[in-house]
Amino acid sequence: QAKDKGRNTYHIYSQAVHRDLAKKLEMVKQLRHAVEQESLEVYYQPKVELLGHRIIGLEALVRWVKEDGTVIGPDQFIPVAEDTGLIIPLSEYVMRTACHQLKRWHEMGFSELTMAINISGKQLHLPDLVETIVDNVNEARLSPRFIELELTEQVFIENIQSHTNFMHSVREHGMSLAIDDFGVGYSSLSYLKNFPVTSLKIDRSFVKDLPDNEDDAVIVQTIINLAKNLNIQLVAEGIETSEQVEFLLSRDCGIGQGYLFSRPVPAEEITQLLQNYQGLMPIDIGS
Ligand code: C2E
Ligand code: MG
Ligand code: MG
Ligand code: MG
Repeated sequence: QAKDKGRNTYHIYSQAVHRDLAKKLEMVKQLRHAVEQESLEVYYQPKVELLGHRIIGLEALVRWVKEDGTVIGPDQFIPVAEDTGLIIPLSEYVMRTACHQLKRWHEMGFSELTMAINISGKQLHLPDLVETIVDNVNEARLSPRFIELELTEQVFIENIQSHTNFMHSVREHGMSLAIDDFGVGYSSLSYLKNFPVTSLKIDRSFVKDLPDNEDDAVIVQTIINLAKNLNIQLVAEGIETSEQVEFLLSRDCGIGQGYLFSRPVPAEEITQLLQNYQGLMPIDIGS
């Protein structure tokens, strides 16, 4: 009986594995199709000056809009894209779309807006990544100084020579370089000294419980001091309340992003926002 039971368990297990695998393959197929048809969409989230609420830049965030209209977030397909190599054409599509869109906003008169683009660690293995990026920027007739590349902290911690070369090359071309989700990958901070970073984005997990959580308040204060001492721009991610804005302003963190200002939205909505409010966020939070 014990043997039978084992066999049954195995049978059920293998069915489950099979089902998962079939699901994953179907997803890969659909994602490949979406990338080939360029039916992915790029949403944009404003980066805002906390004092005065001026929009100073946008971050490009990819979405997969299914045929039935459901919008799927990147956390659900970027890992699959990375495992299958689809991340390469996907990223190039995002890059091209975001650069052209930024150019349109510049031409509308919002000529100082910057564009932040997320780069996957998997892309860093491409030997000509910087050239590809620069080609896209040139093709859109943009100055590279308006382009900021965001890399998650993991990439900095790994300390691989090709990564270092990439970062220096990015800076030599006049683009900016941000560390995304800063603070979650605890490690020696010495890499900040070794990499030509221009901006730090405090991970939203530290912002979420401000101002009440004292540990988070101390951590955020420490990151603010660190950025100041290193002369690096600081951006707080995930701002959802005016209390968080007040706290950040009182500690001299002047730039943020979050649902309080705007969720990531399609380009047309950003255009509306820019045109209707002259580049400011229409928000009264008493600061
Ligand atoms: P990220 O670059 O750290 O982007 C910030 C994420 O936080 C976005 O999620 C955004 O919608 C979300 N967010 C912004 N403000 C708030 C807030 O106030 N509250 C909360 N709860 N969330 C907020 P999203 O768009 O789902 O993107 C998730 C991650 O996927 C991004 O994290 C980024 O690492 C990655 N990603 C997005 N687009 C691309 C892309 O084109 N290429 C690559 N390689 N990665 C991308
Ligand atoms: Mg980012
Ligand atoms: Mg982030
Ligand atoms: Mg993230």
